[in-house]
Amino acid sequence: MNEPLPKPELLDRLLAAVEAAGWQTLIVERSHPFLLRLFKREEQGFLNVRIYVWNCTSGGRNRPADEYRVQLTGVVPKVATGETTLLLGWHEGYGVFVGFDIRKHKGQASASPSIQVKEASLLNAHNHAFSAYERANGEIAVCFCPEFIVEYALNLAKLHGFTAEDQAEVEILNSMDEVDEKEIMAKVRDRERREVIASIRRRYREHDFRRRVLAAYSATCAFCGLQLKLVEAAHIVPVAAESSTDETVNGVALCSLHHKAYDQNLLSFDDVFRIEISAAAVSELRRLNLVGGLASFQRSLKSAIILPADKRDYPAKPYIMERRRVCRWRP
Ligand SMILES: [Zn+2]
Repeated sequence: MNEPLPKPELLDRLLAAVEAAGWQTLIVERSHPFLLRLFKREEQGFLNVRIYVWNCTSGGRNRPADEYRVQLTGVVPKVATGETTLLLGWHEGYGVFVGFDIRKHKGQASASPSIQVKEASLLNAHNHAFSAYERANGEIAVCFCPEFIVEYALNLAKLHGFTAEDQAEVEILNSMDEVDEKEIMAKVRDRERREVIASIRRRYREHDFRRRVLAAYSATCAFCGLQLKLVEAAHIVPVAAESSTDETVNGVALCSLHHKAYDQNLLSFDDVFRIEISAAAVSELRRLNLVGGLASFQRSLKSAIILPADKRDYPAKPYIMERRRVCRWRP
């Protein structure tokens, strides 16, 4: 059994979750319930999120062994306008959150208010990213891996709006790593819920691709060797192309700078993995008087990409060639 985490550490888990989701945070209120402002780089708009969070602790005496509970101690949850309110439990062992429907718990102030959590659902979220189940009061509880926290917050009402009659839909939420787009279209009749599930499914694929590619390259830029958590997973054949896939062999880990240079066709690599800088692009930049820093930029590049430790993760040659075709690479 893990020791319950103090509130500042729960805040750390929340901040790490938002970062894993690819968003940034401003801490507006550091005392519990936390108020965080979530935003994404330079994009317009943000989300004010009020977060009530407690540890999932073991059920205690007279409780089934496969049950945890979240004790709503210290504060009575309420909903404020202009804020998205999350009511969460964190399970340190499984590394997942469980989210409850605030509408069912606001103002809950009995002597020892607590919410039971099924261990099976926490485990399912740990293994399959996402999981939902119906509690005895008809409430839908949603368990999720940290990188889904923003997706959860954005779709809060719709996710908790699932009902027992939507069992097939709840099943799909429980197998995000297996369902495909067609199955979602076939099984989920309600349009709004279909969109939510499809959006979570897309997010799942993005995170899964990123996780595999960064693991294959030890979070190291294949062009320059940089780590420093400045490395991203780039698709070789871009996502927008019909022929794109989320296989690890259609990915390469690149630092933010080299990812951008790769996207802009300033850099590429050939089917024997040699890194090339586009002479055509450089001469165009020269014409625009925009070649400042070019020499050190060139010096930072390896002659060939740093390959994954496992040969099975090497970029696939057909994808390398396909990229050069669809992106109209100019040597
Ligand atoms: Zn780099």
